[in-house]
Amino acid sequence: MNVASKKQQLRETIWKEMERSRIAVFPLPCRGRIPNFKGAEIAAERLRQLEDWKKAKVVFVNPDSPQRKVRENALREEKTLIMASPRLRKGFILINPAHVKEKEHFASTMKGAFKHGVEVNNFPKPNLIVQGSVAVDTHGHRLGKGHGYGDVEIKTLKRRFGVVPVATTVHDIQVVEAVPFEEKDEKVSVIVTPTRVIRVSSCSEMKKICKWYVACPMKRFYEEGKLERKWIEEYCMGDYIHCVRYKLEEAGTPHPDNMLPNGEIMKSLK
Ligand code: SF4
Repeated sequence: MNVASKKQQLRETIWKEMERSRIAVFPLPCRGRIPNFKGAEIAAERLRQLEDWKKAKVVFVNPDSPQRKVRENALREEKTLIMASPRLRKGFILINPAHVKEKEHFASTMKGAFKHGVEVNNFPKPNLIVQGSVAVDTHGHRLGKGHGYGDVEIKTLKRRFGVVPVATTVHDIQVVEAVPFEEKDEKVSVIVTPTRVIRVSSCSEMKKICKWYVACPMKRFYEEGKLERKWIEEYCMGDYIHCVRYKLEEAGTPHPDNMLPNGEIMKSLK
């Protein structure tokens, strides 16, 4: 199974489980959405306690239901709110908190954002990005609903403004052991649930990738679904210095494509 199929499989599992356990709330069914969940407001409250949030004067928040309270909190605390319109069809919307006094709740809904916000191309640098997720893991890998807009939004902001911390609010059930990922996927730096705050450790976030990764057959085998993720985590994005392939590459010694990072030959890899 390739990475895209594994991602979809994980989405389906999360959507199904959130509905089965009645964690998912309106809008239902949650399949195909960034799922809204019981406790989303508590997670938004936890996010409010973080220094990154307190210091932020401008925040960028996705337009989905589970982050509605996050948007309302931003406006109530007089932060400038930047939202992406759904599927970026209308680009970005800026809501000035001074213009929505006493109407923060309505202004934090999609309808209210279009009524009180202005469509903009240029806007100030957000000090914090908040994205919704279908699933995340503690390495910061994030899974959206599958259209790639979340990644496009984060990439656009990083291209314009440089590094900006990225938070996500999710239910605990959405924090999974491992989210399948591709190199192009954007990561989050902090995960906030109704019960905890998980900081993606800077060593995990800044972890260096092996310099041979782009051309390494292990990358291709992983992306084609032929190689387990643990090899990539353990070596290519971890302890690559001890990879047998790495040592052979560095020495200029030829070695077969189906040699695993620990030096074993896996005949089924083609
Ligand atoms: S398998 Fe080894 S050489 Fe290839 S990318 Fe991973 S760590 Fe580097």
